[in-house]
Amino acid sequence: MAKPSAPILFFNSLSKEMEPFKPIDPERVRLYSCGPTVYNFAHLGNLRAYIFTDSLRRMLNWKGYPVNHVINITDVGHLTSDTDTGDDKMEAAANRAHKTIWEIARFYTEAFWGDLKNLNIFSPTIWSIATDHIQDMIAFARKIEASGFTYQLESGLYFDTSRLKEYGMLAGHREEEGVGRIETVVGKKHPADFALWRRSAPDEKRQMEWMSPWGAGAPGWHLECSVMSMKYLGEQFDIHTGGIDHREIHHCNEIAQNQAFTGNAQATGANFWLHNNFLVDRSGKMSKSKGTFLTLSTLIDAGIHPLAYRVLCLSAHYRSELEFSPENILAALTRLKRLVIAVGHLKSRLEKKADVDLDKPDWLRPYDERSYSKGAPLDYQRSLIEAPLKKEALAVLERFDQAISHDLMLPQALPLLEETLSNKKLQPEERLRLIASMDMVLGLNLLHLDRASLNIRPKNALLPENNVLALLEERQNMRKAKDFAASDAIRARLSEAGIEVLDGDPLGWEWKPQWGD
Ligand code: AMP
Ligand code: ZN
Repeated sequence: MAKPSAPILFFNSLSKEMEPFKPIDPERVRLYSCGPTVYNFAHLGNLRAYIFTDSLRRMLNWKGYPVNHVINITDVGHLTSDTDTGDDKMEAAANRAHKTIWEIARFYTEAFWGDLKNLNIFSPTIWSIATDHIQDMIAFARKIEASGFTYQLESGLYFDTSRLKEYGMLAGHREEEGVGRIETVVGKKHPADFALWRRSAPDEKRQMEWMSPWGAGAPGWHLECSVMSMKYLGEQFDIHTGGIDHREIHHCNEIAQNQAFTGNAQATGANFWLHNNFLVDRSGKMSKSKGTFLTLSTLIDAGIHPLAYRVLCLSAHYRSELEFSPENILAALTRLKRLVIAVGHLKSRLEKKADVDLDKPDWLRPYDERSYSKGAPLDYQRSLIEAPLKKEALAVLERFDQAISHDLMLPQALPLLEETLSNKKLQPEERLRLIASMDMVLGLNLLHLDRASLNIRPKNALLPENNVLALLEERQNMRKAKDFAASDAIRARLSEAGIEVLDGDPLGWEWKPQWGD
């Protein structure tokens, strides 16, 4: 197959326009994604941000670019308020749980990594942990200080945003003092100024503090991303991602630090700044500080396969809000089931027809990190579609290429995959090869999921697994014997256990999870 040729366009938050994308190094894309603050489980909204970055990386791979991807883990410095007031989120969580910050950080980092695995999200090239970079941060802040961009207060070292003419260009404000900036630190010259170093108060006992030229304390939150992105990706790299909440303050401050550090107003860190919109529910944006929020485990415990959430995310463009509701997630689960069943049919048709051992061909192996780390994502593609392609197959790939290249238009890409499954102009093998190629970007693991793996029994079910199956069978027998009272009683018993019995389900499923009542 020829190299996918549609030009890549991204909406750049910096220019607020759609711009053609070309990597600085034509051989490799450098990508930085703001990572989670590990004081609690990631909620589904946070995970939307990482499904987005994973899709972005997969799309770049599909287009032939290996990607150096860095995600940070924030285990220090993120305060409960973005105005340098309030508690350190990590300290507060550790004190609440009577644990050390290290224990809290390790626990939630591992939980986060587990979520990513369940969502079929690749590990980045580098996980960079904030507390491993404190000395780098101190050195970075010293240089900014030496260049005259800071002032000191009792409470620490602050960045003087008035020194930069274009401060806040990402957010599109300069004098904005409303949102989130009401409570502020005494002595700040401008409400937008922010801490590079927070000195511990004389009576304060912090679990985490380090010595610095500005006294014992901890770094300001924004510092870590400037320092780690520059360390691993260079002064100017290709793409920086995060949720739109970061666009207004955190990323403006990162850019200010980068410009002050380099002494160059053009040095914004990344050429492209891409922001995903929020996952919202009926009460608004899903957020950790609200206390109650949905995690991936909430879904799995309800019997919903985690990749159904990936399907849900694929149904909205990353710059649009996405509403989470029980109906939406159950519809996404049904969509995933349809896909898996259709791929299963194709696979068995192929096996019968061509006597193919489906464990053998290279092209049926999942696109994974091993093939990625060889640095040649196009090799995988070639192995998929090296045979001369029919015009029809080429046309499908071209449309797919156009959709994903246009600011990652995944809601258009998924229907193309669905159409391909039933495209009668293509042989089963051709269809499967195209599915494998598209799934390299969509990340649904479609060639390897099967019916059984989608049948997750709700955790709150009062019945053990084989009892569910035995009860379903018994109910069928009762129905055959026309003992509807007995069959209804079994239905009610299963329903109490979180399982809705299905009769005549078009997909042939005997039950589905009940959720959201
Ligand atoms: P945090 O752990 O709060 O630092 O957030 C991790 C990532 O999730 C950041 O990129 C946030 O911008 C993003 N994020 C937070 N809440 C949401 C949400 N409701 N929807 C989508 N992304 C979010
Ligand atoms: Zn960041």
